[in-house]
Amino acid sequence: MIKFKGIAAASGISIGPAYKMGKEEFTVPKQEIGDADIPLQIQIFEEALIKTRREIIDLQKRIATEMGQEEAQIFDAHLLVLEDRMLIEEVISRLKKEHLSVAFIFSEVLKKYIEVFSKIEDEYLKERIADINDVGKRILRNLLGKERKGFEDLKEKVVVVAHDLSPSDTAAMHKQNVCAFVTDIGGKTSHTAIMAKSLEIPAVVGVEGVTARIKTGDLLIVDGVTGTVIIEPDEETLRIYQEEETKLKGIAEKFLESKDLPAVTLDGHSIEVSANIELPEEVASVKLHGAQGIGLYRTEFLYMNRKDPPTEEEQYQAYKYVAEELAPHPVVIRTLDLGGDKFLSQFEIPTEIEPFLGWRAIRFCLARQDVFKVQLRAVLRASVHGKLKLMYPMISGLEELKQANLILNEVKEELRSKNIPFNSDIEVGAMIEVPSAAMTVDLLSREAHFFSIGTNDLIQYSLAVDRANEKVAYLYEPTHPAVLRMIKNIIDSAHANGIKVAMCGEMAGEPILIPILLGLGLDEFSMPPLLIPETKYIIRSLKVSQVKDIALQALGLATGKEVEDYAQAKLKEIIG
Ligand code: PEP
Ligand code: MG
Repeated sequence: MIKFKGIAAASGISIGPAYKMGKEEFTVPKQEIGDADIPLQIQIFEEALIKTRREIIDLQKRIATEMGQEEAQIFDAHLLVLEDRMLIEEVISRLKKEHLSVAFIFSEVLKKYIEVFSKIEDEYLKERIADINDVGKRILRNLLGKERKGFEDLKEKVVVVAHDLSPSDTAAMHKQNVCAFVTDIGGKTSHTAIMAKSLEIPAVVGVEGVTARIKTGDLLIVDGVTGTVIIEPDEETLRIYQEEETKLKGIAEKFLESKDLPAVTLDGHSIEVSANIELPEEVASVKLHGAQGIGLYRTEFLYMNRKDPPTEEEQYQAYKYVAEELAPHPVVIRTLDLGGDKFLSQFEIPTEIEPFLGWRAIRFCLARQDVFKVQLRAVLRASVHGKLKLMYPMISGLEELKQANLILNEVKEELRSKNIPFNSDIEVGAMIEVPSAAMTVDLLSREAHFFSIGTNDLIQYSLAVDRANEKVAYLYEPTHPAVLRMIKNIIDSAHANGIKVAMCGEMAGEPILIPILLGLGLDEFSMPPLLIPETKYIIRSLKVSQVKDIALQALGLATGKEVEDYAQAKLKEIIG
């Protein structure tokens, strides 16, 4: 039994066999072949080598234009491995001798090479192992005729283990046999972690070195509450976690009992509690957990795991469906927020050194109005089917907000001229997730009907902490005094201008922070559906007069840790 500690990214406990992916692990069947098959197997091998060579040269060209000649030279070593006569001849001679499929023989030869190189006490040769491994996996993938592994073929519930997973990888787990995942890298508010919460699967990220210790098939316990991963647990540990899993399910069911009760404080103040979604399919979960609407629909996930962007009609159908399902409750459609840690191959966004500070979100949409207008048209057309609102991500100042609204007006005019119906009074909001926006809420009030605080980004930008990097995760503090002061300023300034404020970052779903946020005057909490029942339960146990004082006390504390301890103690005192 080995225990690892990482970052708890999505709550819950799952127990299941490991399934390694990403840095591809192939299971190559040991398949016998006859004499007559040998020429065909040699041909398959040659074709795989040619295909791999082409892939590497293409990759090298792309890296040369995007990053420079020097970086591209790394692949010269890969091409050399591919031309290694000794390796090729060994595969062919063993193929003839052993009568086993070329994929199996090649995987055996590859293993032997890696073993031999690992034993040599020479730093330069040791470094070549990575090259051999990389090229070897590429050849193997081509020999087996495989694309990068997906989740469709999973026959039983597994725990996915990967060095890293992209948000689109995680989105692809939807409705597949994945009961949890574990990664070497990543942070609590990376989109991969956020997606796990939506899919309601426990996840632990940033567990440095964990993938090297796990083999496919190892029994794993993933505790997404404490961020613990246990490999091959002993019987006693297994029993304890099985009990804990049942207990957690019991607590969740208890909270579910109050899901349809209104989110009203003990002294009669109504608070909106809404849901964040990434996919239209999550609507069922939104309803199941008693949300009063959707406070954030991350539409960029519609664009993922596909070759071409979704057409206007396809988007219209998705937005119409969500609007109709939730009516009369509101649905906030956030316009395309790609870039940062969400990449889409369709738009060929160049690799950037600082993607979170780069060509992202509204910046991309203002530059690619062709893409932006298709989405705006689809949202406007769907706006007659329910209560849709629009929201722009990553607004950094009034000018950007004005530009976005101008484009929206152009699209409205176009629809009007074609007699296509839409709600001309559709409300438009801005996300407050860049410190410059947080400081100019009064100015942004001129062009917005509502605001929603995106704390995931606001925290990373104001504390200068990459939200997806486990190395600096300890500095990512929602309770940092700077964050609390900024939130207070946003809410006070918006209220002074008669505008309501929601919060749709992960901070809104942190139980211990609810009293403070409520005390600061937050009007709406938006979060992954699963967290809604508990949030309602907490709100129904509070009084506004009491939380105002809690917020005041919290604002007087000096460190994130002090605020966190205080918040924890207060919640315990109130709800036990
Ligand atoms: C945020 O930044 O808090 C937010 C809600 O948007 P996203 O997590 O998609 O960047
Ligand atoms: Mg954001």
